[in-house]
Amino acid sequence: TEKMIIQSEKLQLAGEIAAGVAHEIRNPMTVISGFMQMMNSDPNHSYKEYTQVIQSELERINLIIGEFLVLSKPQAIIRRHFMLDHVLKDVCLLFQPELNLHGIEGKLVLEEKDIQLYGEQNQLKQVFINLIKNAIEATESGRTLEMRLSRISPQTVQVSIRDEGIGMTKDVLQQIFQPFFTTKQKGTGLGMMISEKIITEHGGTIEIDSEVNLGTTVRINLPVSN
Ligand code: ADP
Ligand code: MG
Repeated sequence: TEKMIIQSEKLQLAGEIAAGVAHEIRNPMTVISGFMQMMNSDPNHSYKEYTQVIQSELERINLIIGEFLVLSKPQAIIRRHFMLDHVLKDVCLLFQPELNLHGIEGKLVLEEKDIQLYGEQNQLKQVFINLIKNAIEATESGRTLEMRLSRISPQTVQVSIRDEGIGMTKDVLQQIFQPFFTTKQKGTGLGMMISEKIITEHGGTIEIDSEVNLGTTVRINLPVSN
């Protein structure tokens, strides 16, 4: 239909813009990274912990930029074995300051440990970041946000992200994976689309249950690798 054609043109354009912006951002980042390395190798400086955090966050920005490039051209992705519970712990740690700021209680429940997956660890990390961001943006202070890892069959694990936020109408839910669909003033409408793409590429599925004023649960099922 005409609407779909317009959307795919928009997506193509966004991809081209993203690729251009990504390139422009990478240049100053290379400079910053060089100075950080210089500071790290100075034996007298007493901010080692801070500069190391800055360095690793710079690397993350680089990966996020790379993530946006999936919109323009299929990238060569490096697949490896990795521990899913480690990724979830990492993401939770990353969001702790933001949860505190919003007065939201974050809970991580690992029913299973040592779950090994095969894929692109940073892309999956990006999915959980996107989903937790959405959950935080939908939730008022005093509420709880829970991320849970469980096994639903010998070959399949589930990560569920449950919030007690504003929830979604059926109409919103139906459009959630559409590129550029957003109900937010400053939304991109790309987070769910990118997340679905990454999960599908990892042989997984994504399901959403939501009730207006009660909250939302996103369930991601992924195949384990032994
Ligand atoms: P963005 O967050 O930039 O709006 P997304 O693709 O991440 O784009 O999400 C699309 C839309 O889906 C959001 O604008 C919001 O309306 C809805 N949505 C996603 N997650 C949630 C959630 N946990 N609770 C309520 N609404 C949500
Ligand atoms: Mg979002």
